[in-house]
Amino acid sequence: MFSSLQAWPGKSRYPDASTHRTIRFRVGLLANVLALALLAMLLAACSTPAGNANGGSGTLQVVAGENFWGSIAAQLGGSHVHVTSIVSDPNADPHEYQTSAQTARTFAMAQYVILNGAGYDSWAQQLLDANPQDGRKVLTVANLLGKHEGDNPHFWYNPEYVTQVANQITKDYKTLDAADASYFDQQNSAFLNVALKPYHDRIAAIKAKFAGQKIGATESIFVYMANALGLDLISPPEFMDAVAEGNDPPAASVAEFQQQIQQKQITVLVYNVQTNTNITNSIKLLATQQSIPIVGVSETLQPVDATFQDWQYAQLLALENALNAGALVK
Ligand SMILES: [Zn+2]
Repeated sequence: MFSSLQAWPGKSRYPDASTHRTIRFRVGLLANVLALALLAMLLAACSTPAGNANGGSGTLQVVAGENFWGSIAAQLGGSHVHVTSIVSDPNADPHEYQTSAQTARTFAMAQYVILNGAGYDSWAQQLLDANPQDGRKVLTVANLLGKHEGDNPHFWYNPEYVTQVANQITKDYKTLDAADASYFDQQNSAFLNVALKPYHDRIAAIKAKFAGQKIGATESIFVYMANALGLDLISPPEFMDAVAEGNDPPAASVAEFQQQIQQKQITVLVYNVQTNTNITNSIKLLATQQSIPIVGVSETLQPVDATFQDWQYAQLLALENALNAGALVK
């Protein structure tokens, strides 16, 4: 029944995913160069970013590289910030984002910039480097967490990191707009203690019921949350890392993953809805054939107008339902 999968020769049979990514990467480089050239022209024409570097009672112009950080920044800043998020397309893979002149303009006006870092949004770092600006504050989440390129960059899937980042954003808001410091403290407390409570409660409930369960994931995006939930994510790391980076997983890791599914070693399979490749689709198909429940998670907010916590909560509920269903099938 699974002969076609077992006979999989790795790269040669499904070469398209990596090839497309290579081509798109080159187009992306060209787009970056063009965007930088446009930015230089623009900066020659216009002047300083809007605003009150330290004055207070204004509106801070905030730009987030991705909308999951943007949602958090907007809730922490309330009426004293205006947040623009760059990467937000729920149907695209953020790892392959390409900059535009519009993005360059948005960054040029920012007083505070939040980037994920660790290679996830190096396009943004290039834009900032091309446009040094006094008074602009930059938070790179990877630096805050002591992470580097090559580390799992999906930091927003780690509840502890989310708290750390939120606290740093509040600290930076208070530096940029000292007059509104007490307002930002209130927003911080409301976000961490009230807005995020259902999310933390769901995590605790799943952990209490399902800790130690073996699950699978097609991509490293879910590793941090699996740890927070106490789940035992047994999929080969080489497979998950390769898919996250847009590479073909090593043949041995594919075979191991297939065997884990065929032997029903996992209760649930988690996949990334924003990175569909032939290989992840074949893994999903295999899980379906074994009646293993499948749960989709996304890189960016789904739907795009959801808050960070509502989006995460919905995904946690779906996972909990799948874990319940998976326990019944086993
Ligand atoms: Zn990813």
